[in-house]
Amino acid sequence: MPTNPLLPPRTRLAHLPTPLVPMDRLSKTLGGPRLWLKRDDLTDTTASGNKLRKLEFSVARAQAEQATVLITCGGVQSNHCRATAVVASQLGLKCHLLLRGRRPPVLNGNLLLDEILGAEVSYLSAAAFADLDQQVADLKTHYAARGEHAFFIPMGASDETGLWGYIEACAELQADFRQAGIKPAAIVSATGSGGTLAGLMLGKQRYGLETDIVAFNVCDDADTFTKKIRSDFSRWEQRYQQGVDTRQLPINIIEGYVGPGYARANAEIFATIAMVARTEGVIFDPVYTGKAFHGLLAELAKGRFEGADDIVFLHTGGLFGVFPFGAEMFPEDDA
Ligand SMILES: *Cc1c(COP(=O)(O)O)cnc(C)c1O
Repeated sequence: MPTNPLLPPRTRLAHLPTPLVPMDRLSKTLGGPRLWLKRDDLTDTTASGNKLRKLEFSVARAQAEQATVLITCGGVQSNHCRATAVVASQLGLKCHLLLRGRRPPVLNGNLLLDEILGAEVSYLSAAAFADLDQQVADLKTHYAARGEHAFFIPMGASDETGLWGYIEACAELQADFRQAGIKPAAIVSATGSGGTLAGLMLGKQRYGLETDIVAFNVCDDADTFTKKIRSDFSRWEQRYQQGVDTRQLPINIIEGYVGPGYARANAEIFATIAMVARTEGVIFDPVYTGKAFHGLLAELAKGRFEGADDIVFLHTGGLFGVFPFGAEMFPEDDA
């Protein structure tokens, strides 16, 4: 049971607090503000990344309903699906993943782990995936007929329940900032399904963080995310009755860094990933963190964060998503 009556049930899964560490060598090279990393890639080894914070609340809700199966969805290399598959196995639940796309000839990265973990995987065409509600309803019926209770966690666990993950992360960040003696101008992250950004925005308000919350979209556009986040906010207000006026909260999304498309990257992004790896020993991924960090460096160069002393980049994980990019990142090794 939660100790704070205002907090919904939470199943502890992540190793918290994650470290807040300065990127000293990189910051020196750039000559701008001091850059920090909040290492949410270290929430766990196999279930690593930002999804685990959100899943603590989604899974608690599933458990309260006595669910025996977790259903969720995403791309073939979804970090969220892999994290859900890990957690399901840890809790003795079944896991059924609805993945958009085809089964690749060679299993790799997150997908390889999904299979090792014994998740049931259904590959959906774009058309079937567009009709996700129906797919989920059919699957629930399928499990009910077998005496199982299936609980659906939406894409990225980005719904009113998953939002709590990054609301509560703000309490941790506040303690981090105090300990480091910094007042960062901004917390910067990638946004893919909106839940991390939306949670940070609510958490900033709840815990009185004096820092801007800024995100780089890795797919779609700012307008799509603004609508998604507004809708998640209103569901959150309805379900949890926190008395927060979310209409006042500014949604800061910086567009222009999607590159060639969702889950696709180019030489510039690969170069940023290699540069950070070689300077700091930290690996970003081509789908989320590498793209967002690439955007951050470009915006710093343009003077966007002029006058900032400290900026915190949220390392949301994604390590397993690097592996499918080997041939693209180092094509000369193909010969
Ligand atoms: C899902 C994901 C994100 C984006 O988080 P959202 O809450 O979906 O916006 C960022 N980085 C990584 C590595 C992710 O897996």
